[in-house]
Amino acid sequence: MSDSATSLFATALDQFHRGANLIDLSSDLRSILSQPKNEIIVNFPVRLNNGKYQVFRGYRIQHSNLLGPYKGGVRFHPMVNLDEVKALASWMTWKSALCDIPFGGAKGGISFDPNALEVDELERVVRRFTHALGSNIGPDHDIPAPDLGSNAQSMVWMMDTYANSAGAAERQNVKRIVTGKTMETGGSPGRDKATGQGVVFCLQHWADEVGFDLAGASVSIQGFGNVGGATGRILQVHGARLVAVADHGGAISDEDGIDAFDLTDWVREHGTVAGFPGAMWIDPDDYWRVPADILVPAALENQVTAENAGQIQAQVIVEAANGPTTLEAEKILTERGIEVLPDILVNAGGLIVSYFEWLQNRSAERWDLDDVDYRLRETLWRACDAVVDLRTDLDVDSRRDAAYAVALRRLQVVYEQRGIFP
Ligand code: GLU
Repeated sequence: MSDSATSLFATALDQFHRGANLIDLSSDLRSILSQPKNEIIVNFPVRLNNGKYQVFRGYRIQHSNLLGPYKGGVRFHPMVNLDEVKALASWMTWKSALCDIPFGGAKGGISFDPNALEVDELERVVRRFTHALGSNIGPDHDIPAPDLGSNAQSMVWMMDTYANSAGAAERQNVKRIVTGKTMETGGSPGRDKATGQGVVFCLQHWADEVGFDLAGASVSIQGFGNVGGATGRILQVHGARLVAVADHGGAISDEDGIDAFDLTDWVREHGTVAGFPGAMWIDPDDYWRVPADILVPAALENQVTAENAGQIQAQVIVEAANGPTTLEAEKILTERGIEVLPDILVNAGGLIVSYFEWLQNRSAERWDLDDVDYRLRETLWRACDAVVDLRTDLDVDSRRDAAYAVALRRLQVVYEQRGIFP
């Protein structure tokens, strides 16, 4: 079995225990936090345009609500499965705790390919999923958001379906049932690019700490969707050079720099970087070998593996995706002196601006983009500082372990003060 075939939840647990060891987390808290609180699975039928019904399987895993309502995206992808969603849900808990956001952690998904359906079929799937979840989600209870394969439109359908099942007097009050909505329906400025923006803020913080110059640095990005695309565009504005990009359709490279804005337009039209005329097309097997100072995995989990970790030339790996590095790969990278900026810190920008959206909806306000970006940066830099400080205090090398220790300490303190009922 290759290391990328290991259970994702097993990887998540391994990371959790490493962080827990650093702060001597009690065995009681370990057993509580190493399982989600609720695992909800719904099977629901949807009529397709050929007149037939297809039964879809959807998940909502609620990992922890100790610090606030359950929070996390819904993923639409054929590979969605219980083990994956459990891992993703636990990562949301650590992200909220690490960034000091008063939310818990959850994740959902439906195992299907959204690109294989007509728009009206997709709408019925999303609405029926929302209906099937029923009161398992709620604006102060569990708040979904976009993730891989879902987008602002999916969130609007979820919000509208939920609002229509609420009483007439409640309808205006439930907008914050989901975040990541379109601007017109109650979304926040900056939510769309928030994860990519957060990736760049974390990278800036690291660059400052180690004395690395982002301007002129070369960057390679795996995945050029919402997160990878925004990261590439913002880094380009900061003077970095995008030298390689790979996605499910192919890989491209150009050591003089690929224009991230032109590439975004191309991907919007063609659904993949493959065929982009502004760069050389390379064999996807050669992608990991392309020299770049910064490597940003921004696609699926388990992409940096024992098979390719030895080929990577980067100085730093910035985990824009959730769980992109396998345990084996991480060991190889550490031995080779390649830094890893961990996912629960690096990609928390989406969650943070989701919180801002939820706050705006709750108080019927609209903040400016500058305000959102400023608060996002402050929130993330505080979390980065906390990781740097604890890493020094505990004298640990791994930034991931230090980030887990910061998050788990916050949960530990709240458990100590609240106690465990009854
Ligand atoms: N799906 C995103 C994540 O994995 C955002 C979650 C949210 O905004 O709640 O962090």
